[in-house]
Amino acid sequence: MPACPCCTDAFPHRASRGHGRRGLMAAMAGLAATAAGLTPARAASSLPPTTLTPDQALDRLMQGHRRFLAQAAQPGPGNLERRAILATGQAPFAAVLGCADSRATPEVLFQAGLGEIFVARNAGNLADTGAIGSLEYAVANLGVPLIMVLGHQHCGAAGAAVALAQQPLSLPVHLRDMLLPMLPAALAALRAGGDVVEGTVRANVAMNVARLLAESPVLASAAAAGRLKVVGGHYALDTQQVSAIA
Ligand SMILES: [Zn+2]
Repeated sequence: MPACPCCTDAFPHRASRGHGRRGLMAAMAGLAATAAGLTPARAASSLPPTTLTPDQALDRLMQGHRRFLAQAAQPGPGNLERRAILATGQAPFAAVLGCADSRATPEVLFQAGLGEIFVARNAGNLADTGAIGSLEYAVANLGVPLIMVLGHQHCGAAGAAVALAQQPLSLPVHLRDMLLPMLPAALAALRAGGDVVEGTVRANVAMNVARLLAESPVLASAAAAGRLKVVGGHYALDTQQVSAIA
């Protein structure tokens, strides 16, 4: 089973940019196939899955790392001097709770270098225990003054939550547990009508902004004291724009 639903063809955002009924049906079919331990049928996509073997993928990762090492001597925010300073500590100016989707990388979207933003990611940018604990550390220990919960257009996790809300599905336990907190957002979007996946993305961001403050006394007290702001953001893949939504 793939580690990240946003990166598989079992989910709709690569197959259907409009997230119409075809996309949802594809999501549901993919989920059912995944649950059955089968390889989901590949939907039409302009980006076929990688053909690299696991060893080739590891080689490619490490080739990238060697480029990172080679760049250390060059001027810029990631240079050798900066890296030496970061070896002694970190003082990021913001934190992002983002989706694990490979197209919504916060450091790239915000052009942030090493040590600049503190990032917690999971499929669906959910304020789960790991994310809340990570962000509590960022605020309480590192003095981060801003958290952005960043959702994005064509989110596979949101599409899967909509499929789950529409029809009971037998899912692997971790995938099911991961998606359950998104169901209220999916149900709200279904009631509202229109583009239900996009509606789910936006409702989910707002719910997780609220959840961070409701479930974490650390974050809530920092916000009440004016030391922290928690905002919602949305990355539109079609226009490459990040905008505030909550
Ligand atoms: Zn996503």
